[in-house]
This record gives sequence, structure tokens and C-alpha cells, in this order.
Amino acid sequence: MSTVYISNEEWERQRGFINTIRALLKPEAQFYVYTYGCQLNDNDTEKLKAILLEIGYSEAGEPNDADLILMNTCSVRGNADQRFFGNLGIVKTIKEKNPELIVGVCGCMMKVDEHVERIRRSYHFVDIIFGTSDIHRLPELLYRRLSGVRRVYDVTDDDVIAEGVPIARERRYRALCTIMYGCNNFCSYCIVPYTRGRERSRAKDQVLQEINELVAEGFSEVMLLGQNVNAYGKDLPAENGVGYGFADLLEDVAATGLPRIRFMTSHPKDITAELLDVMAANDNIEMHLHLPLQSGSDRILKEMNRHYTAAHYLEIIEAARRRMPHISFSTDIIVGFPGETEDDFQATLDVVEKVGFDSAYTFQYSPRIGTPAALDENKVPQEIVTERFDRLLALQNQNSLKVNERRVGTAPEVLIEGLADHYEGQLTGRSSDNCLINFTVQDDIFEKLGIEWGDYSALGATLEGAFCRVEITSARMFSVNGKMVELISSPSSLVS
Ligand code: SF4
Repeated sequence: MSTVYISNEEWERQRGFINTIRALLKPEAQFYVYTYGCQLNDNDTEKLKAILLEIGYSEAGEPNDADLILMNTCSVRGNADQRFFGNLGIVKTIKEKNPELIVGVCGCMMKVDEHVERIRRSYHFVDIIFGTSDIHRLPELLYRRLSGVRRVYDVTDDDVIAEGVPIARERRYRALCTIMYGCNNFCSYCIVPYTRGRERSRAKDQVLQEINELVAEGFSEVMLLGQNVNAYGKDLPAENGVGYGFADLLEDVAATGLPRIRFMTSHPKDITAELLDVMAANDNIEMHLHLPLQSGSDRILKEMNRHYTAAHYLEIIEAARRRMPHISFSTDIIVGFPGETEDDFQATLDVVEKVGFDSAYTFQYSPRIGTPAALDENKVPQEIVTERFDRLLALQNQNSLKVNERRVGTAPEVLIEGLADHYEGQLTGRSSDNCLINFTVQDDIFEKLGIEWGDYSALGATLEGAFCRVEITSARMFSVNGKMVELISSPSSLVS
């Protein structure tokens, strides 16, 4: 199936629905959006919210107050499915109290027939269902519901790229920017290629225009997103016989002057020397690589259809460290893939030990309906999965602490994210190598910024998005502590 570009005319048609609904909307109508899963879904939710704000809704603080509830689902892991159906039960109760409430469900799960059928059969109160390619069609679908169609279940199969859809940025200093959609890899456990379609890259001019706008608006950090960002550009036509890939895009994004650039997710089979060179040559690209390992066993990697070996994975780590000695790594690992033996699991532990990841997202394998691995009956017994999972976690926790202990005494540049959650009188932020840092501030900073002494909430809000230097004084497993020694950049709110 080829990529469908949503034309300006189509988006103008949707704007027509926006204007019509605005006229129908009761005053002070509110929406609430549940979002599950990854940052791509977060970015989709930002688009849904922007459309609803443009229609005239405002955002409700909690679902009970909403006139419209959207649930943006994820089907990558079993627990996201379960959380969704759990929350759908709560939404049912809200709708019983407020029959006028409109309930819409979208996202990856709605591209899986079994889930749509289950809703059709058992959750009659759901008014609207749409898929991952239909976000720009929300105005039209909502209009159909408001004009009396009882159930608007309309999931299209097109692999679309819709430019021009507004985005309500969740944070004022960090922006998400989806550079490509879909995935062609068909890892045997993964549902994404079925729910998000084939790989399709946004045109480089569109991406760079968005980035330049973010720079002009004063954003400090952008996360470039895609299921496999390293495949960016493979589907774009070559210009004068010359292709344009992710390394090229990253270099061009770095040249916009954006203070900090992150990206995810990378696939080991598509990491290139050019990409590592671009990372090493540009200070504003993060000194961090999230590189899903999934398993350290070549046999299991083959079963997973991952197209790399443990040795190749370690070569990438080595090549990155040669260029960037202080680069940090995080990863995803699945424990208990069908047929995983103790030897296979040991091979995973070996790679974890050799790399010394900063952090690892570890998952117990859960079969996804419709994937080849779900048909594999060679299941690993749950007690063995649990036991292996605990061993992996213990090793990774040890490694995380060791990595953080090595940071003590250094003084990295930190992007301030606001008030620290659990540490009174401290701010929080991240260094370029993605380390979470909680830190105290110099006493005179309140006076310098015209904030009442000790008002940390105001300080956190004011400094959100600014850069400072923090001396790291102690290490914990998942974060480090330190003290601010220099405020490097003024917060954008203070820039005249
Ligand atoms: S690369 Fe594999 S795991 Fe990642 S989205 Fe594609 S199919 Fe899923």
C-alpha cells in the first residue's frame, strides 16, 4: 500500500467541520484524553487535543467533568490493553451518570479487529472508533456523531501522512516531532507493523520547517520520533541520485541551532557509521543512544526476526564509544520469548554485563494477537519467566548504580525540567547523556530572578527549559543528586 498524503484541501474540508461543530457546541464544553503507550502516541494525543481546542473545547482536569472522552490506545504490550479495558469500565460509569457524554476510542488497538469487535459487542456506549491514520479526520467523525449517527466506527487502512494538523505541545520547553510513521520490520512478537502500517517518512522540508518553528518559539529540546528512526528516508525519492537518510536529517536538524536533540527508537540493524559520526560531531545531539537489544541470544534474535547478532550489537556499542567515550546507552529487553532456554537467557545477561547500560526497559513476553510469535506454543513457564526477570532486574539495577557512581564529581550541563518530584527544595533535569539529576540551587538565585526566597515552585516553573551546570555529589540507582554551580542560559520566559 502506498503512502497517502493528506492534501491541503482535505484539511480545509476538516476545518469546515471544525467551524460547524463550534457553532453546535454547548458553552464551556470540555474534553479529556486518556493516552497509553509510547511517545508517538503522546504526539498523536497532542494533535487530537489541538483539534479539540480549535473546535472550542477546553481540557478537563478529570474525566468526570468531560463532555467528550477520547482514549488513545496502545497494543504493544498486554498491560496497556488491560489498563485500557479497566479504564473503559470507569468511563462506562461516567457515561451512566452523564448520557450526553461522547466516548471515542482510537490508537493502535483499534487497528486490531478482535478489539474493535469486543467493543462492538460488549461496550455499546462507545460512540466513535477511529484508527492511527484517522487523527486528522476527528472533526468529521465528531460531526457525524453530533448530527445523530449513533455509532461512528470508521477505521481506515490507508498509510497516510497528514501535514498541517495543529499540535498542542504538552510541555513548553520539550517538543515531540514525529519524523516517520509505521514499520517494515515485522519483528515476530510485535504488532506495530499491523497497527501503524508501512514505513513512511515525512518530507525533510516539512520536518525542518517544524524544527525551525520550534527554535523560533524558544523550545530547548526536541525528541525526533519514529518506530525505527534509522530507516528515515529509505522511502523518499533520491535527489539527483543521492539519498537522504536519518544521519543527513539529524545533521540538518543540528544545524538549526536547536539546543538539544534527542531521538528514538533506533534499530541495531540500521545504525550506520555516518549516524555515529554526526552524533559525535554535534554538541547539541544527545550523548545517549537508546538501542533495543531484546535478547542476547543469536538463536532467539533470529526467532524474533531482528536481523542482527549479539556480536554485531556489541560492535555498534564499541563503535559509538570509540567516537564518544562518555556516551550512555539504554535498551529494551524481552524475557521469556517462546523457546528461550537458560543458555539463551545467560547470553542476554552477558550482553547486559558487557555493555553496562544506564537503564533498561525490561518486559516479560506477552503474546500479541496476530503476530507470528503468538502462535508459538513453546511457551516458557511463568515461574521461570518471573525468576529470570528478577535476575535481569537485579543485574541491571547494580549496573545502573555503578554507572551513576562514576558520574559523581563531574559537572554536566543540565536541561532544567522543573521542581523535583520527591526531593523538597530541589529542581530536576537531565544531562545530555540522559541522566536524571536532582539538585539544589545557589541561595542568591531567587533574588537574581526576582522570586521570593524559598518559593521553589515558582523557581521550577521559571527555570523550566533553561540550562545550568550541576556538580554531581552522590549517586542513587535511578538518579543522581547534585548542586547547581552555574545558570548557563536564561529561561526563555525572562528573555526580552
Ligand atoms: S522494529 Fe520491530 S519492535 Fe520495533 S516497531 Fe518495528 S516491528 Fe515492532
